[in-house]
Amino acid sequence: MKTIMVVEDEPAIARVLVAYLRKAGFEVKLAVDGRQALELFSMEPPALILLDVMLPHIAGWEVLRRIREASSCPVIMLTARDGIDDRLSGLNGGADDYMPKPFIPEEVVARVQAVLRRPSQWTDGVRQCRFGRLSIDLLSQRVSLNGAEVTMLPRDLAVLLFLAERPNRTFTRDQLIEYVWGSDYEGSDRAVDLSIKRLRQALSHWPAEEGEIRTFRGTGYQLWIES
Ligand code: CA
Repeated sequence: MKTIMVVEDEPAIARVLVAYLRKAGFEVKLAVDGRQALELFSMEPPALILLDVMLPHIAGWEVLRRIREASSCPVIMLTARDGIDDRLSGLNGGADDYMPKPFIPEEVVARVQAVLRRPSQWTDGVRQCRFGRLSIDLLSQRVSLNGAEVTMLPRDLAVLLFLAERPNRTFTRDQLIEYVWGSDYEGSDRAVDLSIKRLRQALSHWPAEEGEIRTFRGTGYQLWIES
């Protein structure tokens, strides 16, 4: 059973969240302020955190910042306003999603389930992800394995970034040509096979149980990630 930590100081809202999450099959821990949230987190990190912005003692953004120093645990911020500022600072601060108040409890549960289903820790703000020993930074376009940078041809890197943003989905050669090479590409689709071959070579020290590039005969390729 996955544990969700709810950080909310308003008893009525906390009660509703706890009840709906339990009904959905989650174990729920409640923290009523920022300090308690950090204490509970350090004892045992949950599968996901629902974190209110306006909290006594330590504010939600600061709680998020401290959690992000050490952990990529998914965080959904509960924002008081539907302000774009809140949303942007949340996503840039490493939040995985945000939920403006007032919310419908069923929608919060659906959002929690959706974030937990994501096979990776991609966030709109951070654009950085670790798949086991492989880490990929979309902004700087750097790939590293066991902490050492992996160099590759720009086209191969583009293929890897494309697949890594859409893990566990299969793409045909034609789709990869269109998305990565561009629709005006006139060469052979053998270029895809060669690129995949070089990528596998470059990532040969990536343990297969963490993820790998898989071939689906007659269908295409996918970056499979253990989730
Ligand atoms: Ca509050």
